[in-house]
Amino acid sequence: MEFIDPRTFLLVATLFGMLCALVLWVQARSFPADIEGLRDWALAVVLIGSASGLASMRGVLPDSLAVVAASAMLLGGQLLLITGLLRYNGRRPVWRPTLDIIGAILILIVWLTYGSHSYQGRIFLMALAHIGFFSFGAYLSWRAAPAGFGSRFLSAVFLLGVAVAVWRITTLSVGVDVADDIFDRNLVQQAYLGMFSLGVLGLSIGFILLANERLRVELEFMATRDPMTGVFNRRAFFTRAEIEWARSMRSGRPLAAITSDIDFFKKVNDTYGHHIGDLVIKDFAHRSAQMLRLPDILARFGGEEFVILLPDTGMAEAKQVAERIRREIETHRDKTLPAYTVSLGISIAQGKGGDAADVEALLAEADAALYRAKQGGRNRVES
Ligand code: GH3
Ligand code: MG
Ligand code: MG
Repeated sequence: MEFIDPRTFLLVATLFGMLCALVLWVQARSFPADIEGLRDWALAVVLIGSASGLASMRGVLPDSLAVVAASAMLLGGQLLLITGLLRYNGRRPVWRPTLDIIGAILILIVWLTYGSHSYQGRIFLMALAHIGFFSFGAYLSWRAAPAGFGSRFLSAVFLLGVAVAVWRITTLSVGVDVADDIFDRNLVQQAYLGMFSLGVLGLSIGFILLANERLRVELEFMATRDPMTGVFNRRAFFTRAEIEWARSMRSGRPLAAITSDIDFFKKVNDTYGHHIGDLVIKDFAHRSAQMLRLPDILARFGGEEFVILLPDTGMAEAKQVAERIRREIETHRDKTLPAYTVSLGISIAQGKGGDAADVEALLAEADAALYRAKQGGRNRVES
């Protein structure tokens, strides 16, 4: 590290860390409330940055600040990293046992600083805590959703931190050689602090990436889903349906559409109230979704009207699916809800009897069939 002054390096790394804390803080304020942990991380980065700033001033500042306060802030910061990740993963942070351990470590640090003057023991203790926190951090980030680049990057930086701490322990000069000791203090410790600050910078960037990925997933979900039932909305249905339509045109394989409408739904609302009506709609969405295969597209078109698109499905198979849904709904499973029935209409594109010009026309045909099902007495399937 001859080519750069370690203190300048530390200062720059700490300043960048503080900038990251600012970004984390701004994100915490503007992100949806369910993406938690950003505030903990902002505070953690400030604590760790200040701690390494203090530690680098050892010799200039009294040991109570440069050693004891710095250690406390470093441990507190690492605890906050873990706390933030727990919150991000939707878990409740557990303070108690960890705070006790940190208290015990600090008492030991005070003793090692003023009592036994064991510099090596102190470094060993801190590196051990570091390994503990960062291993857990690596695990939590690996489990964090979405399991994309941010999560993997964050895990990798945590593991790198563990490796650095292990390296720090192995480079502790065990002998009592004074020259060794001085070398250790000056070079290795500065390098260690520098790597630590850089590591915190990497961690912050990783967490920012992770939170942004989750934000993107949430926004995409909101843009494509019906908020009440969680199934696709009309717009998302047509986006996907156009793709399936083109695929079916190219391959010549059939494509089926089923439209459905709950029978006498106004009566449900009038008799039991709008809230129960909503629960019935959710119940229908949930139970009919269970009757479908993975590539099938279920969408709510409004009110109690749902549309299903079934790729690679001919008339016979579509009839089976519709009939399965009709029978499932007729079976009065949830006794807390009123019994209800559903009518369904089927249309097919491609294959035998398919002559619709586009998705809209296909749905119009299914709607016509649904109308016949209603006319025919409801609680039935028409095609
Ligand atoms: P039919 O058997 O002919 O379908 O009779 P119906 O009473 O079900 O008639 P229709 O399908 O026209 O009724 C739709 C009703 O659904 C009208 C509206 O008040 C109600 N509705 C629409 N959206 C919602 C909703 O989000 N929640 C609730 N609870 N009711 C809704
Ligand atoms: Mg209706
Ligand atoms: Mg209806």
